[in-house]
Amino acid sequence: MNQFQLSSLKPEDTNRLAIKLAENLQPGDVIALEGDLGAGKTTFTKGLAVGLGITKTVSSPTFTIIKEYRGRLPLYHMDVYRVQDSFEDLGFDEYFYGDGVTVVEWAHLIKDQLPDELLTINLYHSGDEERRVEFSPAGKRYEVLCKELLT
Ligand code: ADP
Ligand code: MG
Repeated sequence: MNQFQLSSLKPEDTNRLAIKLAENLQPGDVIALEGDLGAGKTTFTKGLAVGLGITKTVSSPTFTIIKEYRGRLPLYHMDVYRVQDSFEDLGFDEYFYGDGVTVVEWAHLIKDQLPDELLTINLYHSGDEERRVEFSPAGKRYEVLCKELLT
């Protein structure tokens, strides 16, 4: 299994990592963000937004499930924590196979609807401000991306 581990010692590290990733994203890319509450999923997404040239402040879409932002590429930010069951279809495919970058917080909750190829990023608390960041690419595109970015 292909995995890439990093350590983030403070929010700025997570932010910087996300910006770097964003600069290398292309239309149709899908990123699944996993981790406990407060692990840094939204923080990571904010960094992605900065890296995509989005000037609007990204806030958690907990109540709306999906929020869209305009940048170098559109960013579709989903938080599916409140989706009732894994098959509840809110038109996700339009986003996954659209012309923007889709980021899904708590993605495993809709795992039956996710595309086969995506980049999963797990964030784990490993200290007060320390997080272990684990990249798990599924598909050639994301494997190459991770290799170029993280090794
Ligand atoms: P989630 O979306 O996973 O629930 P958030 O990104 O909303 O998490 O919150 C993460 C919180 O943890 C923020 O208040 C952030 O400032 C803080 N934090 C502390 N250290 C880090 C770190 N290394 N990486 C990301 N966030 C961190
Ligand atoms: Mg969040």
